Amino acid sequence: MSAGRIAVIGASAAGLTAAEQLRRSGWDGEIALVGAEPHLPYDRPPLSKQVLSGAWEPDRTGLRAADALDGLDLDLRLGTRATGLDVADRRVLLGADALDCDGVIIATGVAARALPEQSPGAHVLRTLDDALALRAPLAFPGRRLVVVGAGVLGVEVAAVARELGHEVVLVAPEPVPMERAIGAEAGALLAAAHRAHGVELRLGESVAGLVHDEGRTRGVRLAGGEEITGDAVLVAIGSTPSVDWLAGSGLDLADGVGCDEFCAAAPGVYAAGDVARWPHPVLGRPVRVEHRMNATEQGMAAARNLLAELAPERFGERSPFAPVPYFWSDQYRFKVQAFGDLAEPDEVRLRVLDGADPAAPKAAALYRRGSTACGALTIGVPPKPTRALRTLVADPRPWDEAVAALEAVPA
Ligand SMILES: Cc1cc2nc3c(=O)[nH]c(=O)nc-3n(C[C@H](O)[C@H](O)[C@H](O)COP(=O)(O)OP(=O)(O)OC[C@H]3O[C@@H](n4cnc5c(N)ncnc54)[C@H](O)[C@@H]3O)c2cc1C
Repeated sequence: MSAGRIAVIGASAAGLTAAEQLRRSGWDGEIALVGAEPHLPYDRPPLSKQVLSGAWEPDRTGLRAADALDGLDLDLRLGTRATGLDVADRRVLLGADALDCDGVIIATGVAARALPEQSPGAHVLRTLDDALALRAPLAFPGRRLVVVGAGVLGVEVAAVARELGHEVVLVAPEPVPMERAIGAEAGALLAAAHRAHGVELRLGESVAGLVHDEGRTRGVRLAGGEEITGDAVLVAIGSTPSVDWLAGSGLDLADGVGCDEFCAAAPGVYAAGDVARWPHPVLGRPVRVEHRMNATEQGMAAARNLLAELAPERFGERSPFAPVPYFWSDQYRFKVQAFGDLAEPDEVRLRVLDGADPAAPKAAALYRRGSTACGALTIGVPPKPTRALRTLVADPRPWDEAVAALEAVPA
């Protein structure tokens, strides 16, 4: 085929990796990388960690140096929002402009959910600009931060704010932090750690609304009527896939962009990263993974599979995308790492390796579905034993064998 154009929509982790993979695989046609944000592609995990704490300035979050980006020979369109997709004609609309393409990769990620009536003083945290806006009030000493939500984002921000010496109240309906991600048993260890670090945890409490004063958000009102006030409020209640621009395209947009096992949403149209939902061949159900490692791996897979569809004689066969899901979270001085599928297991086997200091938990856990380990988790455990547990999930062994490996993790 003649080298035409591939458009990658979304210039972040998944989109940039897809563009790089297209070049690495030998695509010598045009690549348009379109991103709504004005910034060069940057990494999000440091936003709730090093950027918020002030340890890093924004330029350290850049995903690639300017000369590496130049080397990709991209038609890089920053500050440009895709507004529509004509699937049959493979035409991407950019407002009044349009790009006719041979292939399209959708990598538009997710947007933070907000509470109704958020006014100045209330924050969300998804973008670099969000992180800098939240960092501003935390730059003054002795502030009080109210965090709504006990997911990864809420607890990471609570940890950073405590380390900066601020008062923190965290409100969430769940009984323990990160319950949905890691389950109740391991979540209880995190609750103890955050309490030991001085976070006031108001778990099992729902927020009914925000409290305003002179046009600013000053706190939250609980379902029972109690008001919790502070100098700033972080609303960390999850996200919504960025698919508005695809309305009317005919794609399956029930939860992100529905794809097949090759990450294809339609002929010549692929999706990757937080926005993509696909039937995971090993997990046996549709998943949409909002984690950093997946953005990279799926960006590469979508790029390879798109090329294989466009020119199989040159780029080979398509392959199903079947990663071992992975995420990490940094809180205080410990790291939480999880592999595989931790959702709704039949059993969780948690081993506390050192319970002496609740502020610095050290634990490992395996999650069983049927007769094998479907997930593994470590908290405050070094890389080598953590990697050993990953193997039990990547190459599932009988449960007894997996439990023996868990027992062998050094205390
Ligand atoms: C604060 C924070 C901390 C995190 N920490 C961790 C962590 O510790 N560990 C971990 O595993 N994961 C973490 N994550 C998750 C991880 O960052 C994401 O999984 C990853 O960024 C997903 O990459 P993506 O490219 O799919 O989507 P995104 O990074 O969301 O990028 C999508 C891009 O598309 C753009 N876009 C949207 N709509 C359009 C449009 N119509 N036209 C053009 N562009 C558009 C957006 O502006 C955005 O720049 C964190 C996320 C956040 C926000």
